[in-house]
Amino acid sequence: MDLGSLYLKVFLGARSFKSSQLDSLANAMSVTDRLSSNSNDRYFVTKANVAAFSFGNKLLFGAGYYESLTESQRLAVAAHEFGHVLGDSGEVRKRLVAPAAVVSLLLSILAFMGTGSMVALMFVAVLGFVAAAALLSSLDSDHYLRHEMSCDKLASEFVNGKSLVEAIHVAESLQRATPKLMASLWKRLGAKVNESTKMRIDAILALKGPA
Ligand SMILES: [Zn+2]
Repeated sequence: MDLGSLYLKVFLGARSFKSSQLDSLANAMSVTDRLSSNSNDRYFVTKANVAAFSFGNKLLFGAGYYESLTESQRLAVAAHEFGHVLGDSGEVRKRLVAPAAVVSLLLSILAFMGTGSMVALMFVAVLGFVAAAALLSSLDSDHYLRHEMSCDKLASEFVNGKSLVEAIHVAESLQRATPKLMASLWKRLGAKVNESTKMRIDAILALKGPA
C-alpha cells in the first residue's frame, strides 16, 4: 500500500476494489503505465459525497455516485478520469487535488487534536476535501472547464458519449441532494457550475463517438 492509498483509506474512509473492466479500458487508453502498478492501489470508493476524482495514479469514486451508475456510465466516468491522469501531466489536477488534500489533512488533524475523536477526524477530512476541491475549481473555472472538455472529448473516443452525459446528469442530481452546508456552497458557485455543465454536455453530444 502506498502513501496515496493510506491517505484515501485513513482520511477519506475509502476502500479499494479491483476491476478487470476498468483495467482493460485503461489499457485501451494507454494509461496503464500511469496507474499504480499494484492492482490493489488503483480504484477506490469513498463514502464521502463526491462524484469522481483522479488522485495521482488512482481513481476515487463516491460510493453513492458509483452505485447510482450503470456499468456503461461507470466506464464513461472512468474514461473521463483517465483523461485527467493522462492530461498535461496532471497539471490542473495537481493544482486542484493536492491543495484540497493538504487543506483537508490540516483541518482534520486540528479536529483530532481538538476532540481526540477519529470520527471527527474523518468527518472534517471529507468535508474539507470536498469543499476545498469545489472552491478551487471555481477559482480557476475557465482553465478548469477547458480541461474538463478535453477529457470528455478523449473519453468519447473510447466509451459511449451518451453514457458520459447521463453520468454527468447523475452527478448533478447528487450535488443538488447534498446536505445544507454543501448545498449552500454549491449554490454560491452554482450559476457557473450549471452553465459549464451545459457546455460540456452540448460538446459531448456534438462529438462522434466510437461506432
Ligand atoms: Zn474531470
